[in-house]
Amino acid sequence: MVKVVVAGGGWAGCAAALSAAKAGADVMLIERTDLLLGTGLVGGIFRNNGRYTAAEESIAMGGGDLFVVMDANSRHRGISFPGHNHASLYDVTTMEPLVKKVLQNYNIEIKTKVRVVDVIKYGKIIKSIVLDDDTVVHGDAFIDTTGSAGPMGNCLTYGNGCAMCILRCPAFGPRISLTAKAEVKEIMGRKADGSYGAMSGSCKLNKDSLSLEIREQLESTGVVVLPLPEAIQKTGTLDKKACSQYAVKEYAANLILLDTGHAKLMTSYFALDDLRTIPGLERARYEDPYAGGLGNSMRYLGIAPCNNFLKVEGVDNLFCAGEKSAVLVGHTEAIVTGLLAGHNAVRHCLDMQYLEIPSTLVIGDFIAYVHEKMATEEGLRLRYTFSGSVYFERMKSLELYSTNRSVIKERVGNERLTDIYNTCLV
Ligand SMILES: Cc1cc2nc3c(=O)[nH]c(=O)nc-3n(C[C@H](O)[C@H](O)[C@H](O)COP(=O)(O)OP(=O)(O)OC[C@H]3O[C@@H](n4cnc5c(N)ncnc54)[C@H](O)[C@@H]3O)c2cc1C
Repeated sequence: MVKVVVAGGGWAGCAAALSAAKAGADVMLIERTDLLLGTGLVGGIFRNNGRYTAAEESIAMGGGDLFVVMDANSRHRGISFPGHNHASLYDVTTMEPLVKKVLQNYNIEIKTKVRVVDVIKYGKIIKSIVLDDDTVVHGDAFIDTTGSAGPMGNCLTYGNGCAMCILRCPAFGPRISLTAKAEVKEIMGRKADGSYGAMSGSCKLNKDSLSLEIREQLESTGVVVLPLPEAIQKTGTLDKKACSQYAVKEYAANLILLDTGHAKLMTSYFALDDLRTIPGLERARYEDPYAGGLGNSMRYLGIAPCNNFLKVEGVDNLFCAGEKSAVLVGHTEAIVTGLLAGHNAVRHCLDMQYLEIPSTLVIGDFIAYVHEKMATEEGLRLRYTFSGSVYFERMKSLELYSTNRSVIKERVGNERLTDIYNTCLV
């Protein structure tokens, strides 16, 4: 039996575990906190702009399980807000147990509240990983999906300090990178001004702390846009944001709220005193990060150098996905890379040729383009997503953007990749 071990249970790790299990491997998924989904516990937006095409490609390729469960658990579907169309908002408060169930249905062994702290390597091969309870876990292939957010030292050095976010580093211990433990030199993403990292671009407000009128509008339409008086507009913070698809003027001139279960506030941080001067927000309180009046988590501080198969350079049996694999942003982006990494980890174990998704598909073009751009100084200062900024523009110019399911299915079929992730390889 082929054994694949996945470190990090965010969206990328969940997708990698899923595709490895579907390809026939015996899979263990290790997550340091008591919850799966990582930063996906506070996000919620998907299917917006080009993410729709990427989700449908994954479904046609047989990797749709996570999108199906996100769709089923959406509070709003097909909504628009500045710069974004046909978005869905999954309920961040109820998503995690549903995903866990999907993974358990594929017999994936999920270990929570344990951290990968070291590797045992022979030459260029990882034989085992060591957990913080001293357990040694053997595997044939490993996948690093430990993400790029935090830990506290990075938030202090490159941001405004620990803002007490969903990653809960003081309680569960800091993020530890499997790639770094395997002695591979990691890449650091940069802000537009060249300094390291990027600050997460949204916060969650407690819905009950908003006025009844705002709450009702939010729950019925999914979106509330509140124009901001000039004196409290935050134009200066836009360049620091991780999600450059929202670093446009509408997001500085307005307070944009989305209903993801909490009220998602589309700004990195916003001083509580200023927030409470806005009619309807006089009693507003942050839900995540708790210190959202001061700052937010820092990301992109530790990316694995890897190729388009998502194999980490310098280690024969280490793969990566999600924010670990590129300066990419998003649940969809984490899932599509996770699916590929999990599948290729199994191919590695069986000595099969790796799968590279062709650039005629948006997922293949995205992975190749981001890796190409990341080789340049300028490229490391950008973030990449199907939902906006440079990559969405590219998708449109290459005519890869589509919301037509039949067209997307046909493209996948033309590449003979229909149901590739549903194929048992073992
Ligand atoms: C506040 C916020 C809002 C966002 N909103 C959206 C949104 O609405 N839509 C969207 O598409 N994207 C959103 N994003 C971005 C998106 O969440 C991420 O890009 C994506 O989910 C990253 O997934 P990942 O699996 O690569 O990493 P992560 O989500 O960071 O997951 C990594 C996981 O690895 C675990 N881990 C780390 N080290 C170890 C270790 N040594 N051992 C075991 N486990 C370990 C961590 O605990 C974590 O669970 C948001 C991000 C943030 C921070």
